Amino acid sequence: MIFEFFKHKHECKHRNVGAESDEAYCPDCGALVRNKWYLVRCSCCNIKRKSHTEYDEIKPDTKFCPNCGASDFHIEELDKINFIDINYAVCKKVVISHQSCNIRQIWVEKDDKLNKETKLLGMSV
Ligand SMILES: [Zn+2]
Ligand SMILES: [Zn+2]
Repeated sequence: MIFEFFKHKHECKHRNVGAESDEAYCPDCGALVRNKWYLVRCSCCNIKRKSHTEYDEIKPDTKFCPNCGASDFHIEELDKINFIDINYAVCKKVVISHQSCNIRQIWVEKDDKLNKETKLLGMSV
């Protein structure tokens, strides 16, 4: 239970990846992140419903459709976001790869060793 909470808290949300590009590397964790857009529609009258993400789940802001009062909805995946939908659509950041993370870690370790060696050399002189 505690471990689960810990894990959840430290998971990168890629907040610094801008929504203006389709794909970008996250400056916080190095993952290649793709912006995916979704639109929530009422299953009854098909009107667009304002929505948000809750623990990675897409949900409409209100329980019932303001147009017809139905509670059923469905989620549509958009290929491209257009400005008419931007107030309704939700952006989900999906990690495509974590490759650059590993490369960076190797370099940090090498640097560390190098620093230690330089220090030792300095002491023996
Ligand atoms: Zn990230
Ligand atoms: Zn409706």
